[in-house]
Amino acid sequence: MDLLYPPFLGALLDLQMECKLLGSPYKVYSGHRQFDEQRQLYYKYLDGGPKAAPPGLSAHNYGMAVDCALLLPDGKLSWLGEHYETLEKTAEKHGLVTGKAFGDRPHVQVPNYVTGTQLWPLKTVYNRTPGTELEKLKAVWNVVESR
Ligand SMILES: [Zn+2]
Repeated sequence: MDLLYPPFLGALLDLQMECKLLGSPYKVYSGHRQFDEQRQLYYKYLDGGPKAAPPGLSAHNYGMAVDCALLLPDGKLSWLGEHYETLEKTAEKHGLVTGKAFGDRPHVQVPNYVTGTQLWPLKTVYNRTPGTELEKLKAVWNVVESR
């Protein structure tokens, strides 16, 4: 859960807590991704793997998305569609959106930065900011906060 946009992390923890109280504990298994990792996923997608955006055009690249699965009583994770209903019903209340609309049910993220067109300006900010990954992310988060 490192390198997540702090307001997103807060909303996500609240969402997870409410879902847990409703009997559906969700575990995050993927969060922030560097561009290199996104590139690998994108190449796998082009080879027939699970859907993935090109590097810089996924909210994961800016710590503003996670993927989660239902934690079953035996400690295993479930990706069954029916197990995402509580998440989907509860996300909006916490100001978050899920990937249900585009067939990516484990995906939860901040609104307004979903499509490539919406994410493109953030990619520009990221690429033109020198420094560490965290410094680049902070420059992106400043832009998100100022809108
Ligand atoms: Zn995702």
